[in-house]
Amino acid sequence: MGHARPDYYAVLGVARDADAEEIRAAYKTLAARHHPDKNPSAGGASERFKVVVEAYAILRDPERRSAYDAALPSDDEVPVERAGGFAEAVGGLLDSLFGVKLGKPVVGRNRVYRLAVPFADAMLGTSQTLLLPVERTCAACFGRGFPPETVPEVCERCMGTGTIQARPFLRSELLPCPACDARGYTVPAWCETCAGKGVARHEETVRIPLPGGSATGDRLRVIGRGEPGRFGGEDGDLLVDIEVLRDARLRRDGDDVVLDRPVSVFTALAGGPVPVPTVDGPRAIRLPPCTPDGTVLRMAGYGVRREDGQRGDQRVNIRVELPERLDEDARAAIVAVAARIGDRPFPAVRAFEGDGDAS
Ligand SMILES: [Zn+2]
Ligand SMILES: [Zn+2]
Repeated sequence: MGHARPDYYAVLGVARDADAEEIRAAYKTLAARHHPDKNPSAGGASERFKVVVEAYAILRDPERRSAYDAALPSDDEVPVERAGGFAEAVGGLLDSLFGVKLGKPVVGRNRVYRLAVPFADAMLGTSQTLLLPVERTCAACFGRGFPPETVPEVCERCMGTGTIQARPFLRSELLPCPACDARGYTVPAWCETCAGKGVARHEETVRIPLPGGSATGDRLRVIGRGEPGRFGGEDGDLLVDIEVLRDARLRRDGDDVVLDRPVSVFTALAGGPVPVPTVDGPRAIRLPPCTPDGTVLRMAGYGVRREDGQRGDQRVNIRVELPERLDEDARAAIVAVAARIGDRPFPAVRAFEGDGDAS
């Protein structure tokens, strides 16, 4: 699977982790060397200059650079120089031979993909692999539709204009030329790989690095993974619209994950370990004895993974639940326990009832 763009780091001759200063320095050197003004006779120099400028335009802009990095093939894929470089050269030759514009570069359209992400994955960040049906510029003919060694001929019917007049002796409307399908040229044989369409259809895996703390409505851009450009135009981008699925128990609040955890009044009184779900899987927290309703317990580092790699916390809101009903025996037992404990450990109750007596 080829990559749609040249390796801009290789173009500038810098490492992938090069800083802004190194990139700028490399660009200045290369731009000076390849500038068309300094190379009036060297045909390849202006092409080279364009690629250098393009590389710098992407790598100098942190946002575009990180989007480009995200779309870079992994290390086991070898980035290939964009085939379009050659197609453009062929196109330029044809244009000058016939004085006919065969096709202006057409930028590929962006494609939009909706990606539903489980809550935990969205909070932690994850790498999703999508299998997408795509049309790619045909590698055999560089999207031209005919083999590279073929020399097209000007269409005799339309004289290369691509259009004919509906009624030849009147000033009538122009129709697309049927002899050449409005191309303006004909070729002895079309590309066998793509049957002359210039694009090949296949399935392609795209790895989407999803940052931690993704939210519904976030849009990721994978450069060059949209629809293919035509006639040397840039490929479109793949836009991934994120939808974070709701979790039945966990929700997000800024960098924290929040959970309401009901516990029985007996657990709240006696304390002990209480199982809780987290984005990292099931865990347990230790409830101290006599934990009041509304207590918030903090689980450090179980929250949203931020851009700097640090994580927020999980907050566990303790909701003390009383029994819905008690049978007579249980009620009698509790009354006995209450009598033994007395009102000393209930300062608010004592204060209130004391005030009541005083008034
Ligand atoms: Zn024609
Ligand atoms: Zn082809």
